[in-house]
Amino acid sequence: RSADVPPAVADGQPPTPPPAGPAWSGERERQPDPTGAGEITMYYQPQIAIATGEVVGVEALLRWRHPRRGMVDPGELIQVAEQSAVMRLLTRRVVDDVVEQLAKWTAAGTDLRAALNVSVRDLHTGEVADQIADRLTRFGVRPDRLQVEITEGALMADPRRVLATISQLHRIGVGIALDDFGTGYSSLQHLRRLPLSEVKVDRSFVLGMTEDADDAAIVRSMIELAGALGLRVVAEGVEDERTWRLLHAAGCDVAQGWFYARPMPAEELTGWLARYRPVRPTVTADGDRQR
Ligand code: C2E
Ligand code: MG
Ligand code: MG
Ligand code: MG
Repeated sequence: RSADVPPAVADGQPPTPPPAGPAWSGERERQPDPTGAGEITMYYQPQIAIATGEVVGVEALLRWRHPRRGMVDPGELIQVAEQSAVMRLLTRRVVDDVVEQLAKWTAAGTDLRAALNVSVRDLHTGEVADQIADRLTRFGVRPDRLQVEITEGALMADPRRVLATISQLHRIGVGIALDDFGTGYSSLQHLRRLPLSEVKVDRSFVLGMTEDADDAAIVRSMIELAGALGLRVVAEGVEDERTWRLLHAAGCDVAQGWFYARPMPAEELTGWLARYRPVRPTVTADGDRQR
């Protein structure tokens, strides 16, 4: 963001999310926004199988294009949206966009899996699972092309309700990823009780790996634990080659981060995929000690 962009929270007021009008709750044609509150759009970040360098999927990440502030990251938007009914509409929009995008990729012969994030509140009713089932059918997208990322925080609030929604998603055939693994409570319980297909090691641990031996040890243990339970492990926040080598040496399955690519609009992703040449580890058993 440039220096003249106002701070995220001006005058102590949280930013006002865009209006929950039909233009962003399911209508396919985006209208220029007459309210000036901007536009919601999805960015996609590649996920790469570490051993082969192959692109195995993308994570869909929400962006809010604000007319004055430019592209706003989802953190602040989600935090505000979660206090109100706006979150529900945002999630609906995310599901619509991602499933439609998956259908486009499939039609174009691009075999990608996409993950989308849902928030705590989304799991308190079965609505999101119903919507996902409906859109997959309507767009003719195979359920195993889609993955839903949940955070451990979601599980604290209303475990029974949340568990019911997660089970419903699992029955549909959609993958479930436990996001930000290691930052929540009783993670081990969740690994045991949930029908997970994937665990995502939180980027706070991954970012510290090369500098902090404890972080590196924690990440290695998480990888080992998830592997022993038969879960795919994704490391997020892989920013450099040294981290990527450490992860390879530790047996991590998939990496996601700026080392490969930043999140980008779907139109850009097409070009990126065409230019991409697999990044493969060239070394070695002691790659983790190379500096
Ligand atoms: P997350 O699901 O853990 O997403 C990963 C975050 O790491 C993304 O931040 C991504 O841009 C960032 N990231 C990826 N690679 C790197 C890297 O190499 N270095 C660093 N420093 N960061 C990297 P982003 O896009 O700002 O999203 C933040 C959080 O907002 C997400 O964390 C997720 O919890 C939430 N979020 C994003 N999109 C949605 C959405 O559509 N719905 C919901 N409910 N939450 C969303
Ligand atoms: Mg995520
Ligand atoms: Mg995460
Ligand atoms: Mg997060």
